[in-house]
Amino acid sequence: MAKIMIYSAKDTLALELLSAARTIASNTGDEIIALTINNDEQGQILADAGATVYKVNASDLILADVAAVADVIAQGVQQLGVEVVLLASDRRGKELAGSLAQIIGAGCITDVSAMQVKDGRIECERNALGGATVATQYIEGDRQVLAIAPKAFSAASGEGGSVTELQVTVKPSGIRVQEVRAKDSDSVNIEETAVIVAVGQGLKSKEDLAMAESLAQSLGGVVACSKPLATDKKWLSEDRVIGLSGKLCKPDLALLFGISGQVQFTVGIRDAKTIVAVNTDENATINQMADYILTADMHEIIPELNRLLG
Ligand SMILES: Cc1cc2nc3c(=O)[nH]c(=O)nc-3n(C[C@H](O)[C@H](O)[C@H](O)COP(=O)(O)OP(=O)(O)OC[C@H]3O[C@@H](n4cnc5c(N)ncnc54)[C@H](O)[C@@H]3O)c2cc1C
Repeated sequence: MAKIMIYSAKDTLALELLSAARTIASNTGDEIIALTINNDEQGQILADAGATVYKVNASDLILADVAAVADVIAQGVQQLGVEVVLLASDRRGKELAGSLAQIIGAGCITDVSAMQVKDGRIECERNALGGATVATQYIEGDRQVLAIAPKAFSAASGEGGSVTELQVTVKPSGIRVQEVRAKDSDSVNIEETAVIVAVGQGLKSKEDLAMAESLAQSLGGVVACSKPLATDKKWLSEDRVIGLSGKLCKPDLALLFGISGQVQFTVGIRDAKTIVAVNTDENATINQMADYILTADMHEIIPELNRLLG
């Protein structure tokens, strides 16, 4: 029986990884181990969800030092005889995945959106060719590091877990933390919201963002955007970009205003349950994936929706 280890510094993602590990283990009978680092609270959350938790408490470990964190996880892998490590495919997790795989001599796949066990192999699905297709890939060899996209699995629940302490050695770090600051107030998590109001280059001016914000508020959602609005026009932060270079979102409802539907965008929203597209062009590509299409000017439709909801 092999062992699977899961690790994410974020509680929600760690619980999703526990579900992912259980998907593998239900086929292979593998044992699952959850690792926590300097986070007793998370250890308890995972144990309450039925996980066998090994907690590392290393006050001299700088969590911002990805190489040092990878080294600590690698020690856990060696001590506990782990073959497969599941990490979260968020920004930090992807960096960690590469470092860890290098240290333990494993193969590595990031941005995994789905997994299945076939002929004893863990087959991973991930976007390829700029999001134009989904590739199925697997690692030849027992040692594997897989980074799973947020929300690819639902958060695990269960009972009857346990917490055990794990001793590691922390190497001196070349990094010194000078200051810790909260992210700027524009930062949001568009991956975790149930309703997205997304705007594209059909939006005439930065001032018009207010109407989208108001609509999002009425619907209990958040405003997101296509890439040019953040990177070219700088009207919104890059945290809000949907797509290949942004976030992969799975909301229940996505209202898309003035977005043409290039594949680099649609790859980030195609898993939404319901998509409504509002575009002045009746032949806009986005209409091919939308559940509801409105050929209209967004500057008329959004104020009208605000009026009806207000
Ligand atoms: C490597 C790479 C990675 C990329 N990654 C991403 C990514 O992650 N996310 C992303 O979004 N893009 C990404 N892009 C850019 C992508 O290819 C597109 O250029 C971008 O998505 C287009 O944004 P848009 O739909 O807002 O703008 P446009 O393509 O200019 O479309 C604007 C749309 O608004 C409509 N419109 C105009 N006026 C109105 C109105 N008054 N009311 C309603 N509709 C109106 C138009 O008909 C048009 O369909 C990437 C590109 C590359 C090369």
